[in-house]
Amino acid sequence: MPRTHRVTSLLFLVIASLGFLAASAAADNSTGACTWSYAGDTGPGHWATMTQPGSTELCFPGCSNTTAPQQSPINLQGATLNNALKQIQFYYVNTDVEVENNGHNIEAVYSPAGQGTSNNNITYNGTAYYLLNFHFHEPSEHQIIGKGSRMELHLVHQAANGQKLVVGIMIKLGKANPVLQQVLTAAAGTLPATIPVGAAGLLPPASNWNPAPFQYYQYQGSLTVPPCTGSVIWAVLMTDSITATQAQIDQFKKILGFYNARPIQKTVPDKAALQKSPVW
Ligand SMILES: [Zn+2]
Repeated sequence: MPRTHRVTSLLFLVIASLGFLAASAAADNSTGACTWSYAGDTGPGHWATMTQPGSTELCFPGCSNTTAPQQSPINLQGATLNNALKQIQFYYVNTDVEVENNGHNIEAVYSPAGQGTSNNNITYNGTAYYLLNFHFHEPSEHQIIGKGSRMELHLVHQAANGQKLVVGIMIKLGKANPVLQQVLTAAAGTLPATIPVGAAGLLPPASNWNPAPFQYYQYQGSLTVPPCTGSVIWAVLMTDSITATQAQIDQFKKILGFYNARPIQKTVPDKAALQKSPVW
């Protein structure tokens, strides 16, 4: 190919690529792509009021404390004892998960995602909820009587009818967490990566998990990331926690590059809505 022809071809490619990029950007605008983060103009304080590019339409109206109450996380305090709440039964087995970095968090995703397809599930007050993913927040998102923890684990489940239920477990400084380490090691390499994981290793030590003698707070809240989907059942373990080393916490922060915790939202308006399970 003559040199001039090559240059012309190259120029054509560059121009075509630019055209494609411009078209992609336009497509993003038309579909209302909204970028969010944990800091600055796109941080948690702006999620509810951010507008779509070139529009006055809100990006994430579901994140509003005003129009979409029951936002999570909250300070878990002043809970009403509900003796009708049952122990959670965990049926977690070793299986392959896909470790992903979605730009906001590092997640271990169960596949195929969706209800009834994961062999990892829990029984909560008589209903089966299937494990969709687990991920970590640093520092913790919920507080227990005004006190946060170094990290918080979220085990996100979904029932056959679509109801979401998140089990929250506080992570304190202590011994190394082997499952967290598996995820960190995978996340330090090329993602997505498939690794075998036993989510049972993430649960606090107990002599018998079925039923698990973990006392918990229960309330109806939201997902803690945009679009802050509501009607999520939260079960946050009250007195039981798990541990991670400072090196693990540092590694998580290094991979992610920022703190990924939504601040505490308004206290539950109705104190009766925040309940705690009995002590077993
Ligand atoms: Zn979470």
